[in-house]
Amino acid sequence: MASETPLRVVGLEKRFGRIHALRGVSFEVGVGEVFGLIGPNGAGKTTTLRIIATLLKPDAGDAQIYGHSVTKEPEAVKRLISYLPEEAGVYKNITGMDFLRFTAEIYASSRSEAEKMVELGARLSGLGARLYEPASTYSKGMKRRLLLARTLMVRPRLALLDEPTAGLDVYHAVEVRKAIKRYVSETGAAVLLSSHNMLEVEYLCSRVAFMNEGIIVDSGSPDEMKSKYSASNLEEAFIQAVGPQGGLA
Ligand code: ATP
Repeated sequence: MASETPLRVVGLEKRFGRIHALRGVSFEVGVGEVFGLIGPNGAGKTTTLRIIATLLKPDAGDAQIYGHSVTKEPEAVKRLISYLPEEAGVYKNITGMDFLRFTAEIYASSRSEAEKMVELGARLSGLGARLYEPASTYSKGMKRRLLLARTLMVRPRLALLDEPTAGLDVYHAVEVRKAIKRYVSETGAAVLLSSHNMLEVEYLCSRVAFMNEGIIVDSGSPDEMKSKYSASNLEEAFIQAVGPQGGLA
């Protein structure tokens, strides 16, 4: 049933053989909210995002996107989301502009909508004239910006971004964060992202969840988390909440 809540995750469980990757993950993301999943390597962030993106089936639990279940209504969910994977590639032999055009052809229902999408994608990418060169000539950071542009230009009502600024230099990371913020304020869409960068999370996220070993240890706004753990920054709050070793213990 349709709902106004962009994302409601309830009791997600996932095992990979003997690895218990998710042990009952629950949280909600509200309208216009950027929600950050923070946690050490192996905490379960990507697994959570992939389940919400309908690419992986949970063993138990469910996630609902505007009321549509990822397990029972994956087609309806796919129309509402767009997913930027942690490790995604671009087709190397085509130009960035053609990559954006192909995407628009798949998602848009009219020529004018496709043109608007490509225009937005080109702006979000910040690649300027380089968009007309083959993607094989792009740096790692340029490819990442192209992929982020592709993810947001289809105007998803919920964007799922796995480490959106991974591999970007400080200047381009700042541009990408601004683009995400602008996208949310212009469209009222919601964003769920994972990140290892606490500065990024503080800048972007209205709420965060600390994840470790397949569970959400605590969640709240960055300010709430800092005051709760008497920490001067989010990194300190995370270590207070999870313990010094986290998943490495
Ligand atoms: P990182 O910060 O390193 O990206 P993460 O929090 O995204 O980590 P996940 O990728 O969700 O963590 O992995 C959670 C656990 O599940 C890890 O122990 C990982 O090795 C395991 N895992 C994930 N995918 C698979 C798979 N396809 N097969 C086997 N194990 C997997």
